[in-house]
Amino acid sequence: MATNRDAQWIQHEYLDTYRIASLVETYANSHINYLRELEALTLDCGICAFIPHWQKDTALHKFIRYAAEIMLEDDNSGKYKVAFGGDPVHPKWTLPLEEALVTYGIQDEVLWEIPEIAPVEKTQDNGVIYTTDAPELRNACYEYFQEMQMTQVYNDLLHKISDEVFFVMFTNRVALQNLHQYLAYHVLNDSMEYLEPDHPQLMKFYTKSGRMRRTHIPMWARRAIFFRDRGICTKCKKDISGLLNPFSRENYDHIVPLAEGGLNDVTNLQLLCESCNNKKSARLEPTSKQYQRWF
Ligand SMILES: [Zn+2]
Repeated sequence: MATNRDAQWIQHEYLDTYRIASLVETYANSHINYLRELEALTLDCGICAFIPHWQKDTALHKFIRYAAEIMLEDDNSGKYKVAFGGDPVHPKWTLPLEEALVTYGIQDEVLWEIPEIAPVEKTQDNGVIYTTDAPELRNACYEYFQEMQMTQVYNDLLHKISDEVFFVMFTNRVALQNLHQYLAYHVLNDSMEYLEPDHPQLMKFYTKSGRMRRTHIPMWARRAIFFRDRGICTKCKKDISGLLNPFSRENYDHIVPLAEGGLNDVTNLQLLCESCNNKKSARLEPTSKQYQRWF
């Protein structure tokens, strides 16, 4: 069940959506503090996945999957487990991963129960005896998780999660700006000369100075930004829908400018009016934190 990006409707289950969104936001907003956690995202040409222009599997989708994997690995290493089955006295136990696969309809039923391995007793320094999961149990859980990571169903789950978390994060322009500033650093520093031998097909996306080329923004991306930002300039709040003022024109502005290493990605765009866009030109400015109420 691969994600069909042409399908208009997606079903949300909101299983761990906000937990993952919170982790993505933390990484994006404080990326300086999480360089080690984020290292694998951009290591060894990792930035290459972000370079092709106007992918519907956006930079935010990829970032979400990265964070979701870190969370899933933490949750499925034997420390946490979830009960399933109708018997509250003798519940069966499985991993959160199995629960997620069933909840998202990727798997019909729970296929793996946590093996019954007796807990072990340990003694604290002050002499208090307590019980804890046996190392064999933790290993069994972790090994199962590692096996699952190689499977298509796991990959399908990550794509489901990224679609869902994207939905709640796409309006958060501050997190998007921070995420793209982190990626821009790698666009500018993981140089073309270094990437070219293994990825010659990517060179057409760059200018000679190692920035992304300015290219035509596809209609689907323009429409998404126009509707997200409600046809209003995000900076001066002028209506640019053309309904009230036929002379106002919309501009699709790169939040992190191309000149600063910004990507051609729908999550790096915002709506500006012509005069705000001219004033901003190619400078990096904080995006607006103001949102119009629903009512
Ligand atoms: Zn404006």
